[in-house]
Amino acid sequence: MASTVTLEKTTTVQSGGGTDAGSPRTVRSPLLMKGRKVGDCGGGEDATDKCCGRRRCELVSYDRLPEFLKHNEFIVDHYRSEWPIKEALLSAFSIHNETINVWTHLIGFFVFLAFTTCAATMVPMEYEASHSHLATTSTGRLPNITGNAMALMTSDYSAEGAVADTIIMKALLRNASVETEAAAAAALSSAPGHRVARWPFYAYLCGAMFCLLMSSACHLLACHSEHASYVLLRLDYAGITALIVTSFYPLVYYTFLCDPLVQALYLGFITASGAAAVAVSLLPVFERPELRWARAGLFACMGMSGLVPIVHKMVVFGARPEAVVTTGYEMAMGAAYLAGVAVYATRVPERWMPGRFDLAGHSHQLFHVLVIAGAYAHYLAGLVYLGWRDMDGC
Ligand SMILES: [Zn+2]
Repeated sequence: MASTVTLEKTTTVQSGGGTDAGSPRTVRSPLLMKGRKVGDCGGGEDATDKCCGRRRCELVSYDRLPEFLKHNEFIVDHYRSEWPIKEALLSAFSIHNETINVWTHLIGFFVFLAFTTCAATMVPMEYEASHSHLATTSTGRLPNITGNAMALMTSDYSAEGAVADTIIMKALLRNASVETEAAAAAALSSAPGHRVARWPFYAYLCGAMFCLLMSSACHLLACHSEHASYVLLRLDYAGITALIVTSFYPLVYYTFLCDPLVQALYLGFITASGAAAVAVSLLPVFERPELRWARAGLFACMGMSGLVPIVHKMVVFGARPEAVVTTGYEMAMGAAYLAGVAVYATRVPERWMPGRFDLAGHSHQLFHVLVIAGAYAHYLAGLVYLGWRDMDGC
């Protein structure tokens, strides 16, 4: 429990720490000498002390870090070490080796928040536009599939509206002609309106937002103290687990809507796996740098288990375009996540040129971008699932 760490401790670590046997060259940061400060602390030692208490809010090199902040020896410099919480928070607006890590996932969080808000509140206008398009177009181009799927998902429509939307979605997904829309309209004219449950889709959006927010907070504030680092890393692992687990929910729930037993088996298995992963990640040994591959392997195995329901889906529904489209998105998501895990575990490119990618371009930043790309692909798949099940029900 080290929520309060003094400058003396930092100094002790510096003098006794040295570099690891396998670590690359050590570069003294010019910024270290300049005593770069967060916030407008003014000049001189007194101003620094006044601004940051007993600590110097300066960036330090890897060999000056306490053990709990030593995660990647190929990132040589520009570390924040045991900064006060206020300065750590404000450091979101300054340049250090976590700045891009913080903002990639913070921006991703707000993007998914916007998706969720749109899903929950909007689109009667798009819905109306879809209707007018259907009514006025004779040979026209089909509108954007994502926008119309969103309209379907969010519109609070009547039974009559549901049938009309169903027709639109069927035509969109099958890239059908207007004549096909008319045929679908005739076929579905007697079908009751229905709207499949939204909770699996919202659970996924919440899982993604939780992951992105926890990640961003961890990168911003873990430098504060060993205790903060311990807690935030656990929340970060829990966020990754939540993203993986909730990614299964739309896939399993909507695909096996008509088979509650299979649905419950898959959902139960992945939820139990996620709970086990969170429990394992609570062990202090879990964050040790040498267990990087074990962490990557655990999360990769959880993600890879998604192949089972996906293959199952293709066996049962392989003839349906919705199944093919969603599987395509899921493959794109899997490729992005696997590439992210590989980059995370191998620490490429910084291992090739230690110190060169401290501020921009290091593996963790690439990992973050790939996670957002994968999460977005899965969001698109979720929209297609909603369209499919709103259309067909069970
Ligand atoms: Zn991260």
